[in-house]
Amino acid sequence: MTVEPFDAVQLIAAKRDRGTLTTAQIEWLVDAYTRGYVADSQMSALAMAILLNGMTRQEIRDLTMAMVASGERLDFTGLGKPTADKHSTGGVGDKITLPLMPLVASFGVAVPQLSGRGLGHTGGTLDKLESIPGWRASLTNDEVFAQLAGPVSGVICAAGAGLAPADKKLYALRDTTGTVEAIPLIASSIMSKKIAEGTGVLVLDVKFGSGAFMKDFAKARELAQTMVELGTDAGVATSALLTDMNVPLGLTIGNANEVRESVEVLAGGGPADVVELTIALAREMLALAGQPDADVEAALADGRAMDQWRAFVTAQGGDPDAALPEPRETHTVTAPRAGVLTKQDALAFGIAAWRLGAGRARQEDPVVHAAGIELHAKPGDSVAAGQPLFTLAADDAARFDRALEALDGAWAIGEASDHTPSPLVVERLGR
Ligand code: URA
Repeated sequence: MTVEPFDAVQLIAAKRDRGTLTTAQIEWLVDAYTRGYVADSQMSALAMAILLNGMTRQEIRDLTMAMVASGERLDFTGLGKPTADKHSTGGVGDKITLPLMPLVASFGVAVPQLSGRGLGHTGGTLDKLESIPGWRASLTNDEVFAQLAGPVSGVICAAGAGLAPADKKLYALRDTTGTVEAIPLIASSIMSKKIAEGTGVLVLDVKFGSGAFMKDFAKARELAQTMVELGTDAGVATSALLTDMNVPLGLTIGNANEVRESVEVLAGGGPADVVELTIALAREMLALAGQPDADVEAALADGRAMDQWRAFVTAQGGDPDAALPEPRETHTVTAPRAGVLTKQDALAFGIAAWRLGAGRARQEDPVVHAAGIELHAKPGDSVAAGQPLFTLAADDAARFDRALEALDGAWAIGEASDHTPSPLVVERLGR
């Protein structure tokens, strides 16, 4: 019989009483929880104590590295080229990974973008890409390595079950115990997966505002700072951009429509905010990967990023020229009077798109690829009476009422003086 070196009750009591756990205690805890010796009830109590009392930088680092050690760790050093990844904390209309990955890959940097599916009002990158007929999200580790080593130089695929399994178990528990919001737990959860993934460079897009996970700027900044420190301590060159998510990003929210908008950006067009964030993140990734002078605008304008996109879609079984799913039903809301659009609340538009079928309520639910919202105006735009403001799209018109309910009070038309433009990228953290 194995003699356990600690017991869970002792560790829970220590955190409850604002004590500090040692590296050995945290390593044991994560291992014992992964193998089922520490019960879910005990881990829930500990997660709540952490949420209430916090963790030191050393404890957060130990927790992160113990979760990395709970599974496999990918190693891309044999690729012979730098690797760079981006992580977004999630928002409404956030399709940036789609144009960003091929743009950065077009400079010869390998981009291992291991992504997730959406849950709740924020969309998932894999759900968006699965709108493309034939496109495949599941790749083996060997396929990932081969695609990164070759001319495609990038993958977007589902993170394998082998990466940080302790996090998977803990995240599911936090989801049902009101402990998702603890910064030490969020930071270690995100960073354990990114460190295990083996990227050399990591740029974090940490969002704040109504449509973001962190509503409050100060909290988002604290999360960003914690994650930058964790990445740096683990030898990953890490920086973070703090970006505004009070308003949806771009003019589309959904899946197929977000792919269309991403392709517009790759063709040198697209909405200004999507272009701005794609360029800012690409510059950051390339600078950390040793190319501070890369002309990313040129790669969008001259078709290099588009060629890279087409090669990526084809490599993962998709047809870049295939027609994307179209909605069966649409409903357009028009401006009741002339004025300036002064409000477009990201959370409400995210919930509305979700209710239209673009998102899922349970992990196992399918999404409706053609469902979503197209915005015809953004805050600050002048609108005439009767001008379309946004169009809802669904496979069943019965979904419109609940989506419209979510949008009640979510937008407003006023005077130009009622609108104060705010910057998209507010701050950069990292060396
Ligand atoms: N995303 C994660 O991967 N983990 C969290 O805890 C929160 C968001």
